[in-house]
Amino acid sequence: MNDKFLEKEFEKNIPAVVKTALKLCAEAADEKLLPIFLIGGIVRDIIIDKKNFDVDITVQGNAVEFSGFLQRSHPGVFSVKEIHDSFKTAKVLFAINNETVALDLASTRKESYPHPSSLPVIEEIGCDLYDDVIRRDFTINSMALSLNKDSFYKLTDYLGGYEDLQNGILRVLHPESFIDDPTRIIRGLKFSVRFGYRFDDMTGTLMRECLNSGRFDNLAGERVKLELKQAFNVNRAECLTGFIQENIYRLVDTEISFPGNIDELAYRTKNTVDNYAKFLSNPDKTWLIYLGVLLTGLSQEKIKYIAEKMYLSGNETDILTDAKTICENRDKLEASQSSFEVYEFFEKTKTESILVFLIKNKSFKDKVDLYLKELKDIKTNMDGNILIKMGLKPGPVFGEVLREVLKARINGEITSPEQEAEFVRNFLF
Ligand code: ATP
Repeated sequence: MNDKFLEKEFEKNIPAVVKTALKLCAEAADEKLLPIFLIGGIVRDIIIDKKNFDVDITVQGNAVEFSGFLQRSHPGVFSVKEIHDSFKTAKVLFAINNETVALDLASTRKESYPHPSSLPVIEEIGCDLYDDVIRRDFTINSMALSLNKDSFYKLTDYLGGYEDLQNGILRVLHPESFIDDPTRIIRGLKFSVRFGYRFDDMTGTLMRECLNSGRFDNLAGERVKLELKQAFNVNRAECLTGFIQENIYRLVDTEISFPGNIDELAYRTKNTVDNYAKFLSNPDKTWLIYLGVLLTGLSQEKIKYIAEKMYLSGNETDILTDAKTICENRDKLEASQSSFEVYEFFEKTKTESILVFLIKNKSFKDKVDLYLKELKDIKTNMDGNILIKMGLKPGPVFGEVLREVLKARINGEITSPEQEAEFVRNFLF
């Protein structure tokens, strides 16, 4: 078969400053006689004309030594940001035309999995490109584009990734792939939803076999977290339906169950995230809303256990457990009469948890809207200094008075600073 050269795709999709940085890398690699490649997702994305800001480079050799060489040959332009010595990878920076270009430099490496789902063990650094490629997840992510001068733009595609990409097929590289690393299933779900691709038949069978095997004891929770985050942050209903219908949830916990209409729940989740986006402080936490929707049917203990298994932070765990708490206490919200009672019900709860509650309890939309859109940000003008000026001695009563002012303000009984002062005088004297 003829060699493929991706000159057009490279020139079109790689920004000019990145090209300059890659050229400097390639010249240094040529000097050191090292084969050097763009690899993985970036090659996939330039072929399908998609922007990708993660520039992964692999040298067939030792990338840490190579970055040392770049540092010596391009002082002032090149710097090393981070080194992972065990993987022999480096995050590096180029300062070009007043811009900073960040690149990930990796050494080719051969890996093996001592047990199903375990973390991989490095067998060789600086191995042949083929051994580096065969450890990857899907054929579409297994292509490399040469940067060396004598083979610039040449595509190395040992496993038919180019054709699979044209046909929209996700295909694992060998039958043990999911057993080695079941988080690849979540990655597959992400790519299938993001690009509209489908698993080839054998890959689908291998996925089901893996999920039915239940051999996830060694599965590293932080990897599950990382992949869930990427998959659910895409904010697509299909991600949640696929996650449930294909039994991928078993990688998180086998007790997760959904008696209701999954499609409806998934669309409600996606639409709620869209409709309330402006109330969310950080879109990077969207995945926690999806996870909350998945977990609120479980007990608090189980939710905490899962959060611990995935090494969630305290804040992330709180989002999940608080969502459960307000779902459990919904009768209290049902009984609330005044705006202040609605305010009190939600006030200590993060918006992500409130949205999980809303997704699971759509009949409370009016009260959730009242809180998020009208009450949440109400602040009074009254404070301790004003109370002192009004002749009050500082003490625990301050908190009580300020709370009463807030209550009256939220209930619409008072609306101006003058009315607040009047309210305090009536309340105290
Ligand atoms: P995205 O566009 O979502 O960032 P990506 O393909 O660029 O996707 P990364 O997570 O940045 O994904 O990983 C870079 C490359 O590393 C992938 O393209 C793939 O070749 C390889 N890779 C990542 N995770 C795995 C994994 N769990 N198993 C095997 N290979 C992986």
